[in-house]
Amino acid sequence: MTKTINKTRHEWQAQLTPEQYRVTREHGTEPAFSGEYDKHYEPGVYQCVCCGQDLFHSDHKYDSGSGWPSFYQPVDKENIGLSKDRSWLMVRNEVHCSSCKGHLGHVFKDGPQPTGLRYCINSVSLKFKGS
Ligand SMILES: [Zn+2]
Repeated sequence: MTKTINKTRHEWQAQLTPEQYRVTREHGTEPAFSGEYDKHYEPGVYQCVCCGQDLFHSDHKYDSGSGWPSFYQPVDKENIGLSKDRSWLMVRNEVHCSSCKGHLGHVFKDGPQPTGLRYCINSVSLKFKGS
């Protein structure tokens, strides 16, 4: 079981940069090709910038050409949560951290095998820990 983290708006604002807060707590999106992890291929683990939970591994990262870090699977399905996002006149599957509910990005069905999924994640939602 992952533990659930509940913090107030003020606590998150004190902990995060304004851009991290905007993306993770207000479902924002960083501009394409702007993120520090888009072209980042060091071996290691990408953790939630809000609570430090492991989310994605560099072994599952690939260049989708979208301008955002892309992964075809999370470290563990338990570590992420999905919900429907109906903004922008489309229904997309929103991806968030299962522990703190921080918004990470979206998942699409045009990824590579073995999963066929593309987890399209904002760099500012992540914190890299090299192995
Ligand atoms: Zn988190």
